[in-house]
Amino acid sequence: AKSEGKARFVMYDADRNARQAARYTLAAAIPDALDRAEFTVVYQPLVAFADERLCGVEALVRWRHPVLGTLTPDTFIPLAEETGVIVALGRHVLREACAQAASWPDVFVSVNVTVAQVREPSFPAEVAAILAETGLDPRRLVLELTESAVMDSDGAPLAALDCLAGRGIRIAIDDFGTGYSNLAYLRRLPIHILKLAGPFVDGLRESSSVDEQIVRTIVTLAHALQVTVTAEAVETRDQADRLRELGCDTAQGYLFSRPLPPESLIPLLRGAACA
Ligand code: C2E
Ligand code: CA
Ligand code: CA
Repeated sequence: AKSEGKARFVMYDADRNARQAARYTLAAAIPDALDRAEFTVVYQPLVAFADERLCGVEALVRWRHPVLGTLTPDTFIPLAEETGVIVALGRHVLREACAQAASWPDVFVSVNVTVAQVREPSFPAEVAAILAETGLDPRRLVLELTESAVMDSDGAPLAALDCLAGRGIRIAIDDFGTGYSNLAYLRRLPIHILKLAGPFVDGLRESSSVDEQIVRTIVTLAHALQVTVTAEAVETRDQADRLRELGCDTAQGYLFSRPLPPESLIPLLRGAACA
C-alpha cells in the first residue's frame, strides 16, 4: 500500500510538471501574440444602483489564441506576472481601452493594473502619454488596483497614486475584502472607489448574515471618506436589492450584463447615465 501511494504521488507530480511546462510555453508565447494582435478587450457594464443605467465599463482582456480558442485572463495573467510580460500586456490593454472609450459618449472606463505595472517609475508618464495619444479625458479613466498594489514594498503608500489622481484619474481598489483590508490606508491614499469582492455579494444569499453587517460597515466608512462602493459579481435580483439597501452606489455582474465586445456595447451606450 505504501509503494502504491508513492507511485500515485510520482504520477501526480509528473502531471503537475507537465502542466507547469505547458503554462510556461503559453507565457513564452505572449510577446509574439501581442505582435499578432491576439489580445482583445471586452467591456462589462457597470450600472448606478439609483437608476440601473449604465455609467461605466470595466475592460477585461481576452486572448484569441489561434489553437486554444479564446482564453480568459486567469489562464495567462498570473503567468504574465511571473515572467514580467504583464507590463507590456497591461500597456496594450490600457491603450486599447482608452482608444475605444475616447470614441464613446461620456461613460468611464475602468482598467485593471497589476503591482508590477504601477511600480515601474515610468507608469504615470506612460498613462499620461496614452491619454494624450488617444484624447481620452483623464476624468473618464479609472485604474483598478488590488490592496497589495497600493503600497510599496516597505508598506508606504505608492507615490504614483498621488501623481495619477492629481491628473484627474480615479483609483479603485479591486476585490476589496479579500486581502488584509487595512481600512486605515483609505485615509492616506487618493482612493475613489471600493469594489466589493464577489464572496461578500455571494454571502448575502442568507438574510441578516455577517456579510451583510460587514458590507454595511464598509459602505458607511467608505462614504464617510467620500469613497464610492461598487458591488461586483451581482448575479441575482435579490442580491441587487439588498446591496442597494445597504448603500452600495454601483453594481457590476451577470444580472446586468456579461462582458461584451465593443460592437455589442455601443448600442447600450445610448442609454448611458453618468460619467
Ligand atoms: P476582476 O478584476 O475581479 O474582474 C471581474 C471578473 O468577474 C471578470 O472575469 C468578469 O467576467 C467576472 N464576472 C463579472 N460578473 C460576474 C458575475 O456576476 N458572477 C461571476 N461569478 N463572475 C463575474 P474575467 O474577465 O475572467 O477576469 C478575471 C480576472 O482577470 C479579473 O478579475 C482581473 O483580476 C484579471 N484581469 C482581467 N483583465 C485584466 C487586464 O487587462 N489586466 C490585468 N492585470 N488583469 C486583468
Ligand atoms: Ca477588476
Ligand atoms: Ca474584482
